[in-house]
Amino acid sequence: MNVYDSHRMADTLAPEGFTETATPEDADLVILNTCHIREKAAEKVYSEIGRIRELKEAAARDGRQMIIAVAGCVAQAEGKEIIRRAGAVDLVVGSQNYHRLPQMIARARLGERVVDTEFPVEDKFEILAAPEQSAIARRGISAFVTVQEGCDKFCTFCVVPYTRGAEVSRPVEKIVDEVERLAQAGVREVTLIGQNVNAYHGAGPDGRPATLGNLLRRLAQVSGIFRLRYTTSHPRDVDNDLLAAHAELPALMPYVHLPVQSGSDRILSAMNRRHTRRDYLNVIARLRSARADLAFTSDFIVGFPGETETDFQATLTLVEEIGFAGAFSFMYSARPGTPAAEMTDQVPPEEKSERLQRLQAVISRHQRNFNAGFAGRTIDVLLEKPGRLAGQLVGRSPYLQAVQVMAPKKLIGSIERVTVIEVGSNSLFGSLENQAPVLAAAGV
Ligand code: SAH
Ligand code: SF4
Repeated sequence: MNVYDSHRMADTLAPEGFTETATPEDADLVILNTCHIREKAAEKVYSEIGRIRELKEAAARDGRQMIIAVAGCVAQAEGKEIIRRAGAVDLVVGSQNYHRLPQMIARARLGERVVDTEFPVEDKFEILAAPEQSAIARRGISAFVTVQEGCDKFCTFCVVPYTRGAEVSRPVEKIVDEVERLAQAGVREVTLIGQNVNAYHGAGPDGRPATLGNLLRRLAQVSGIFRLRYTTSHPRDVDNDLLAAHAELPALMPYVHLPVQSGSDRILSAMNRRHTRRDYLNVIARLRSARADLAFTSDFIVGFPGETETDFQATLTLVEEIGFAGAFSFMYSARPGTPAAEMTDQVPPEEKSERLQRLQAVISRHQRNFNAGFAGRTIDVLLEKPGRLAGQLVGRSPYLQAVQVMAPKKLIGSIERVTVIEVGSNSLFGSLENQAPVLAAAGV
């Protein structure tokens, strides 16, 4: 979502005369778009500000003004505190206020230190400028589109409901317009983004709320869009419409990110996830019965307050039972203002770190097995961009695996049949179907 937001900020500043620079040294305005989900991410912001401050001072010595802005969820959560703690920051803009950036920058240029983290009444999506066709083309053939923002679930560990606010969905027609514009500029794959994307309930053309399944069905008709994905889903909001979309739409990729966080019912309840281990297994089974070749990834938190070795074992057995194609796993990080941060039975850091290593070892084994299963298979690859070697392109499999293949540049943006010759640690190596293997020529 921050990638998408950064693009929309750049689009909104383009009519003001701003263009993106390759390096921050050249910039008149540096925006740090930040994440508050874990403490590490939030703290990184301050070290980054320190680095940019030196550039600002160097620019000032050359008689050039450099504005430093902090955007995103750290801005939203800390607001004025950032201005107090970091003297170099000129402007703090919350995650719902990007459309106000042009006015805020104008004030900052005159020397004011500007903070705007109020949740506005107007809809930022209505005001944010659309990207120019050249900007879309520069960003590549795969694009993100935010369709839903915010969350009403209030998991006890999570800051999202506080930093991104209540759940809001964009209307279907606005999303269709945006995706059509992307397709016209050469985008071939769209990933629909939302903190809780399958809770999507934007107004449909008839004014009634549409489901994510409805939206996907509509977007599958947009000419030029070959692939659709969505992320991140909540297990409770997988409805029959979404199952039907997976069963019916070849463009909807068979790869679903479905965070579970823990395999222990006791911990799931303390997390206020509002689903049990059994519920989660049932959702996976329903999705698999809609489309047999679906693969799943997930998110896990280890060391949530009160997590015992027995609870942790339940997480390990869940991973074994489902066999994920990959997963993100994190040590629990206490976030100010969330209920879990106040819980008294915090798990010691060494224990969290040890559990994380054990969990990651199991997840990596599953991921390796999943990838190994592709050796010798012929798969559809959407070719995205030049690879590292001359004559090579990198694309993505339906399961988001990077696939390296010798292929002419003109095939960027098309889906090709590729036979997998070798499975590497980070990517698959293949050759275009009906062509002699080029692995040796590629020096792999
Ligand atoms: N909406 C998604 C997740 C959004 S946050 C969902 O419902 O699952 C992305 C991931 O960050 C979460 O899935 C969780 O695994 C992790 N995360 C969120 N808060 C965290 C915290 N306080 N400590 C550690 N990891 C956290
Ligand atoms: Fe956070 Fe996801 Fe829970 Fe919402 S559903 S509170 S975004 S973890």
